[in-house]
This record gives sequence, structure tokens and C-alpha cells, in this order.
Amino acid sequence: MPELHSDIRYIKGVGEQRAKSLARLGIHTLGDLLNYFPRSYEDRTVERPIAEVLPEETACIRAMVATEPRLTHVRRGMDLVKLRIVDDSGSAELTYFNQSYVRDQLVKGETYVFYGKMGGSLLRKTMANPVYERADRAGVTTGRILPIYRLTHGISNKLLLTAEESALEACGDMLPELLPGRITARYALPKAGYAYRNVHFPPDWETLALARRRLIFEELFVLSCAMHLLRGRREKAPGRAVKIPDAEKFYSSLPFAPTGAQRRAVTEALSDMASGKCMSRLVQGDVGSGKTLVAAALLWAAAENGLQSAFMAPTEILAKQHFATLTGFLEPLGLRVGLLTGSMTARQKREVKAAAEGGVLDVVVGTHALITEDVGFHDLGLVVTDEQHRFGVEQRGALTAKGDRPHVLVMSATPIPRTLALMIYGDLDVSILDELPPGRQKVDTVSVTEEYRDRLNGFIRAQVGEGRQVFVVCPMVEESEALDPAVKSATEHAETLRRTFPELTVGCVHGKMKPKEKDAAMDAFVRGETDILVSTTVVEVGVDVPNASLMIVENAERFGLSQLHQLRGRVGRGVHKSWCVLMAHDPTEEAKQRLRVLVKTSDGFAVAEEDLKLRGPGDFFGSRQHGLPEMHIAELTGSMDTLKEAQEAAKSVIEKDPELSDPELTPLREHIARLFELNENTWN
Ligand code: ADP
Ligand code: MG
Repeated sequence: MPELHSDIRYIKGVGEQRAKSLARLGIHTLGDLLNYFPRSYEDRTVERPIAEVLPEETACIRAMVATEPRLTHVRRGMDLVKLRIVDDSGSAELTYFNQSYVRDQLVKGETYVFYGKMGGSLLRKTMANPVYERADRAGVTTGRILPIYRLTHGISNKLLLTAEESALEACGDMLPELLPGRITARYALPKAGYAYRNVHFPPDWETLALARRRLIFEELFVLSCAMHLLRGRREKAPGRAVKIPDAEKFYSSLPFAPTGAQRRAVTEALSDMASGKCMSRLVQGDVGSGKTLVAAALLWAAAENGLQSAFMAPTEILAKQHFATLTGFLEPLGLRVGLLTGSMTARQKREVKAAAEGGVLDVVVGTHALITEDVGFHDLGLVVTDEQHRFGVEQRGALTAKGDRPHVLVMSATPIPRTLALMIYGDLDVSILDELPPGRQKVDTVSVTEEYRDRLNGFIRAQVGEGRQVFVVCPMVEESEALDPAVKSATEHAETLRRTFPELTVGCVHGKMKPKEKDAAMDAFVRGETDILVSTTVVEVGVDVPNASLMIVENAERFGLSQLHQLRGRVGRGVHKSWCVLMAHDPTEEAKQRLRVLVKTSDGFAVAEEDLKLRGPGDFFGSRQHGLPEMHIAELTGSMDTLKEAQEAAKSVIEKDPELSDPELTPLREHIARLFELNENTWN
């Protein structure tokens, strides 16, 4: 008997090879498959007369083959089949490239349903490679709402369609009902089985909307419940009460006065640490707001109480930067700070680990290596993670497990709109650094198009001429994306710049490089050996290069506003006047409007709120920058209303039954535990 967790190879037609390809899409089991929702849908239900379909329009046409299909060899490797189709309203020329079998399949005098994009002109209509079905057998690829799935090499849409069909047949009735009856009733939501069936195979748009609403609601509801649950458990969990030292002692050792916001965040965190409960606090602040100093104050306070701290950064280069900064803040106060990263020699690692274990080090700064290198601590009392969104909830957990209920501080530079904060950081208390240290310059931002290219190149030359450095960011081009020549890839654009500026040094970093190569390229830029650094969004995470004064984002229309804001934060970190140039390629009116938000405002929270208004919450859930479990469908939606309803529903369920102990809620409870890879014990 197949079950939801049965291997995907259960499906007829899915063997070793295809199972591997499906694994790339995150599909391992029948349940995964059912939770792999269509990206979009094509309306192939409405048949239109040929005469009405304008060039560039995509449509279904019911027409008769009017001429014998003709096969011609144009040249080696290029065959064409040409034919003419007619209906009562007009005719069109069809061409199939390299599909010679079409000649035998399409029969003169027979009627078919074709689906494709009209080309040619009003007088001479053409279609290239339309899909077709015999009119009397239509209904598989035409005559329906066709779900379109995100694909990968070796997996076609058709294969997914059949696979989904088999999976639904096999276990469509076993889908757990995560929503209690009174919630489905109150919000008029259909049952799970109905929703899954109709999201994959919608008979009409209305049913589809209902199915999607249910699934989106469910996903947001589950997440919201999980956050309430985590928070509830945490609030009950005892922690170690530290004695609050006199923070002035720390402040007076600094080369500058802390901002009011920094003082407030430190006070809030210290009072958590003294409360007898475990601190779980997020410090959220725009780039440059000085989060590191807040962390340093707490590291110092922990050490004053005889406790060790771990400080985890998402990349090697950031770990090194933090190590240098924290050493600067803390060594004068008598603290001993160590560094642990993956690229250190075995001997260096051994030494640091011994010092951590022996309690010689007060603070160990590091990358993931802090988790993977099985470091032990003498007495770990505080865990700080920087740019928390790069780490999952589980990874955070792995580090805290090394101590006896250590206090936890996470720092993030991604401003989350208030409406979403509860959802995304629901299990944390939040301090916001809403004040920049004095003397910061605003980064002047302009939004331009290709016509500005020559002037931009001149500007690059001028900036480098003055000794400054330049960031150029290109959109990450995913393998699966159709290659659009207008979209700049980092490697190619770096080549272009090398040709344009033979006298300058141009470096390049992107996500497909090995970590070592990446760090080497970043390092060279940090040391000032490279004038221009072309990259994908890997630079987004807090790298500090005070000498960089110009950030150029290519194809800016392809980035989210918050992401652009983050990128902009890479410059203006030193004493130099800085600029951000958003280069848009053929932007739509809507894209122009979005980019104008950045030109207008430099406040990250305002940008995030605008982004939410313009694009809906889907992008926030889709960006994978928050360390939440992967979302299957909510990332595809723009509905704020559903989000609010789901939150309200979750709150009402949790208030009534804080531990979800009602048997009706067992599937929900188990689902949440799996989602967060937590077992009942680690929760308590
Ligand atoms: P972020 O919040 O982006 O992590 P950092 O902690 O890296 O910001 O701080 C950015 C810069 O501002 C650093 O060079 C830091 O030394 C400096 N800085 C932090 N706090 C203050 C302050 N109160 N006054 C002046 N400079 C500060
Ligand atoms: Mg930082």
C-alpha cells in the first residue's frame, strides 16, 4: 500500500534516473510530489476563431488541416514540417521545427485543437510548434486549465502531470487534515483532499481559487501556530540569570559614544539575560546601524559573569571581519577572543578548540565550523548569530545545544515589515536599531537605463581615479531560467568590463565558485587589490569595504526592493561620498515605480513596507532569507487578507489549546514538529 511517505519510484514511469531529477526539485516521496504545486496555469479552455487571434496572442484554436503536411530538409540538423489549417473564420500557416513525425500525425481533412502563440501578421497568420490534439480526444494538453510546474533537466511538465495524477489516485485520501473543523467552517475553506486535487487539476478558475486559498491559508496557519507554540514554550523555559554589569564601563572604553538605539537594545537584552528566562532576542537594524557593538556589549557582560560566548557569522570573510572588530572592542577590557573557520589548518583548529573547551577563551567567533567542527565549551552562556536569515532555525538550535540553555541573540539587517514580523520572527523578542551613528552620509541613488551607460562608465573611471572601489551586482541567473540575453551574468559582465577598462583590475565572485575561491576574490577586494568587483548577490551579506563608494546594480528591475536596499548598504560605509546606480533594462511602468521608492527613501523599514504593498507577502516567504521552513504555495501568493485571517485563526486555536493537545489537532502538531525538525524533547 503506498503512503504519503512512500518513495517517489512507486509512480509508474519514475525509475532511478527520474527519481534523481525529481530529488533536485525537492521531491522524494509521494507527499512531496503532492506538495509540489504548479507555478502557474494556462487557460486552454477557450477556443477562439483564427480571425480573432492577433499576432503575439496565445490561444486555443479548433481547426481542420487543409493541406498535406510537407516535410523539407533545410540543412543538416534542421527539418521543417509546414501545413495550413482553416476554420470558419480564416486560416493560418503552421511550422514545426525538427519534429518530422508531425507529418504523419496530422492528417489532411481531420480536425484538431491547436494551442500556441500566433505569429506573422494580420493578413498572414502563422504559428510555430503549437501543441495539438485530435478534436475528438482533446482534454489532456488542450481544452483545459493546464497546470505549469517548475521543471528541471529530465523532467517534463507532462511527466509531472501524470505523476501527480497517480499520486492523487494512490494517496489523495490520506492527506492529513491540519485545519480543525471550526476553522474550515468559519473561513469557508474546503477540505484538504479537495484542495490538493483541484490545485493540480482544476476544472475551472473558481474551483482553483478555492483550492489555492485553502492551501495558502493552511501554510500560513501552520507557520503561525508553530511560532506561537515556540514562543509559548520558550517563555516557560528557565534560563541562567546573569548579574547586569555597569554598561557604562563598556561604553567608556569605546572610541565613540553609542547611539540611543544601541543603548536601548543593550539594556533590553541585558534585562532578558538577568530575568531567569532564556533570552531569544533579535536585533534588527539597517546596515551600518551598529549591531556589532550591541553584540559586543553582551559578550562582555557574559564574560563579566564568567560565561563563554559563541559568535557565528554566515561566511568566512564575515567571521574574520567580526573577529577583528570584536577583538578591538573586547581585548582592551581583558577578554580573550578566538577565531574558528573551516579554512584554518588542523593544528590551528585544534588549538582554538582546546582553548574553548578549557575555558581559556571568552568568545569564539566563527562560521558554521562552530557547529560542524564539534567544538566543546567549558561553559557556553551566550550565542550570537549574525545575519540570522542565512541560518535556519535548526542550525541555531545546533549551536545552542552546546551549552546549558545559553542566551541567544540574533542580528539581522533585513528589515521585515511589522505585519510580517510576527510571522517570520514570531519566536523572538525584537529590538530595533532605528538610528544611525552620527555623521553617516546618505547614499545618493539614481535609477537609469542603458542610454546612461557611457556616462556611467565615465563615472566608474572617475571614482577609481580618486582611489575608490566599485561594486557591480548582476542578477543570479538560475540554470532553469531561459537565457535572456538582456540579463547580465556576473562572469560575462566582468569580461565586458575588463574590455571596457583594460587599465583597471576587475574581480568576480558568484555563488557557483568554491568557497575558497569566493573568499579569495572577496579578500582581494577588501584589501583594495581589485578596483571593480562584479558579483551576484553574494555580496549582500554585511561585507565592510569602507573604500567602496559606488554600487551599480545591473538589471535592477529583477531584484526585490529590500534586496536592492541591502545592496545599497554595501557602500557609504566610510568617509567617502557614495552612490548607488540602479541600471534597469527596459523597465515596465511598475518596475520604474518600484525603483523610484529607493531613489526617494533610504529607510530600510519604509522600503520593506513599500515592497510589501507593491508585491504582496509572497516574496518575503519566497526569498528563503528568513530561515523558515520552505514554503510550498504561500510564496506564490500576493494575498495579505489570507495572511491576516490565517494569523487570526492560529491565535484563536493556540489560545484555546496552547499545546495543541486536542486529538483533532494531532496531525497539525506532528506536522509542525517535522517542519521544524524538532522533536518533542528539544521543545521542552
Ligand atoms: P551593522 O549594523 O551593519 O552590522 P556595524 O556594526 O558593522 O553595522 O557598524 C558599522 C560601522 O559603524 C562600524 O565601522 C562601527 O565601528 C561603526 N559604529 C558603530 N556604532 C557607532 C557609534 N555609536 N558611533 C560611531 N560609529 C559607530
Ligand atoms: Mg553587520
